[in-house]
Amino acid sequence: MMTASQPDSTGHFGPYGGRFVPEVLMAPLEELELAYREASADPEFQAELANLLHHYAGRPTPLYYCKRLTETLGGAKIYLKREDLLHTGAHKINNAIGQALLAKRMGKKRIIAETGAGQHGVATATVCALFGLECIIYMGEEDMRRQRLNVFRMRLLGATVVGVKNGTRTLKDAISEAMRDWVTNVHTTHYLLGSALGAHPYPMMVRDFHKCMGIEARADILQMEGRLPDTVIACVGGGSNAIGIFHAFIPDEGVKLVGVEAGGRSLQLGEHAARFEGGTPGVLHGAYTYMLQTPDGQAAVTHSVSAGLDYVLIGPEHAMLHDQGRAEYTSCNDADALTAAQTLARTEGIIPALESAHAVSEAIARAPSEPGKVYIVNLSGRGDKDTDIYRENLPELDAADSNPTTF
Ligand SMILES: *Cc1c(COP(=O)(O)O)cnc(C)c1O
Repeated sequence: MMTASQPDSTGHFGPYGGRFVPEVLMAPLEELELAYREASADPEFQAELANLLHHYAGRPTPLYYCKRLTETLGGAKIYLKREDLLHTGAHKINNAIGQALLAKRMGKKRIIAETGAGQHGVATATVCALFGLECIIYMGEEDMRRQRLNVFRMRLLGATVVGVKNGTRTLKDAISEAMRDWVTNVHTTHYLLGSALGAHPYPMMVRDFHKCMGIEARADILQMEGRLPDTVIACVGGGSNAIGIFHAFIPDEGVKLVGVEAGGRSLQLGEHAARFEGGTPGVLHGAYTYMLQTPDGQAAVTHSVSAGLDYVLIGPEHAMLHDQGRAEYTSCNDADALTAAQTLARTEGIIPALESAHAVSEAIARAPSEPGKVYIVNLSGRGDKDTDIYRENLPELDAADSNPTTF
């Protein structure tokens, strides 16, 4: 029987993961791993975490049966795991609370993080306010311009947002700046990484802080359907919401696990962020994993309508699950994600985050040919943050005389 995966003692999931960092960060990463292992085994830490996840973040989140969506499609029964109902609007708060508690336990009073679209920056600024920690967020200047509202939110929460002028002035450059800061200030500072990525122990630790999603969903579906689901579907940026909901189901070999990457405008290199569509293993940002690269080994340019999925590499545990065949990975393009968001909005009254709409699209595509099957789709976040992008891409709804067709 397959057991839920754990990295080996050097932080590898199969050949993937590991610790590819400057020498000065080796000891801090070992210290972090030790602190994390001690905290995981400490009932007091676990109780404080559980208490905050419940009373502050809003766990457990409901598992919701989409009756009208299911009937509209006429096939598999579709359930949503409602991470969109959490405080700050997405699953990211689970990990932010966990790491902030750990930083406090380690005596680190300064938190740094990087952010692309600003969602992880907002989650980090939120928990820093909650625990009274100093918060520095690195963000590319181009991203700051595109995400002004999130920059304002972070500042309102008391964080300092540092604009990064290097390179393409986006996420990749912000990560490099955050790493530079950490190297310099590692004794006082915790680096609060936002996805199941980076050097060991981050992919394992971030996964663990999110695995409540799968544990809750598994218990709820057993109660609601009297059996396990046939398929669990989640979108995959770095991979944290997907691994969080997959993990409890890995030993259930009859349960299909489906990760949905960003198919962007097309599957030509530079037009998407689907790492398993032409990506190859390489080392970047602390670990060995699948990434999109140019023929000479440089990180490729990526694109997705959804900022949270627009990233050049995927977490190492997904790389292993992919090679093992335990999870399958597919992609959804920008247009199909936008259509799925409208379908969900009009059949269920739920506007999904654009990231989550990629997973919803996959369920919509599969359901009609699988009557009798049961799906769980991870609704990783709510769509409020994406209103501007929806408006830009659905101009017909924004016209004064718009009268949309209903389902
Ligand atoms: C950030 C984000 C994602 C992508 O990150 P993962 O680590 O792959 O989960 C997905 N959905 C939402 C709503 C997000 O904010």
